[in-house]
Amino acid sequence: MNYKKIVTKIAKELENTPNKGKVANYIPELSTIDSSKFGVHLTTIQNRHFNFGNANEKFSIQSISKVLSLSLAYQLEDEKLWKRVGVEPSGTAFNSLIQLETDIGIPRNPLINAGALVISDILVSHLKNPKEDFINYVRKISGIETIDYCPRIANSEKASGYRNTALINLMKSFGNIKNDIDVVMDFYFNLCSIEMTCKELSQTFLFLATYGVSPYSEERVLSKSNSKRINAIMQLCGFYDEAGEFSFKVGLPGKSGVGGGIVAIYPNKYVIAVWSPKLNKKGNSFKGIQFLEKFTTETEASIF
Ligand code: GLN
Repeated sequence: MNYKKIVTKIAKELENTPNKGKVANYIPELSTIDSSKFGVHLTTIQNRHFNFGNANEKFSIQSISKVLSLSLAYQLEDEKLWKRVGVEPSGTAFNSLIQLETDIGIPRNPLINAGALVISDILVSHLKNPKEDFINYVRKISGIETIDYCPRIANSEKASGYRNTALINLMKSFGNIKNDIDVVMDFYFNLCSIEMTCKELSQTFLFLATYGVSPYSEERVLSKSNSKRINAIMQLCGFYDEAGEFSFKVGLPGKSGVGGGIVAIYPNKYVIAVWSPKLNKKGNSFKGIQFLEKFTTETEASIF
């Protein structure tokens, strides 16, 4: 497969189509980005690399990191995890409060904000130095020592995180948050602030294309079964109320973030990361989804 040729052809096509998306501004620091940025990076399981555009520029991965915190929590808690968070698509926005009241504080899945807050609480309970231990975990599975949090973005979100504070308080009232709210929120905002390039993102997620083994640390991050299950959760929940649409158009498990990044996994083949900061109405990268739809169409390959 000539990935380089296909990636370049689609990226060039998209340069000439209008971008109807909008940069996220509810986290003030995110709105300072140059919205014309566009990068793609594909890493195969044989460690071959193909890229286009701003693939080596760092951006805020935001909710994409929820897959990494979930992976660590799953490794630590195993099936016990599902007592506190579900695996059903929510069909609602990433920061919605609606279902939480009737679901008595149990979030539908770990990839919406409510679910990621419960996962953060679990990690705070398990880890000795939560922020330090978590970033070391990410560095280890990616083989990239320089991956880090961005305090500027974490602080900006902390100062404007009204909905997340509402979500965590509601869950605390139902007994599904065990630690101090401020400690969990601080961990969560830092988690969302992690910065990576498209190249780093595709490398970091490669363990989900290799059934749980990080090709960089050569260690098992997840069991084969748990790795498949995380992909299943991404397939059904990775794009909130656009998960069906993404599955329909792209046909790969994936995860988006409000920084404009998307990572998609083709198990046993590759991981592809796209970055374009303007988002559609569902909070997912407008051009990122367009790119991936064209990519799986041109390569004539999806998990289906
Ligand atoms: N940090 C963002 C928030 O909690 C993440 C949302 C996202 O990327 N979808 O609102």
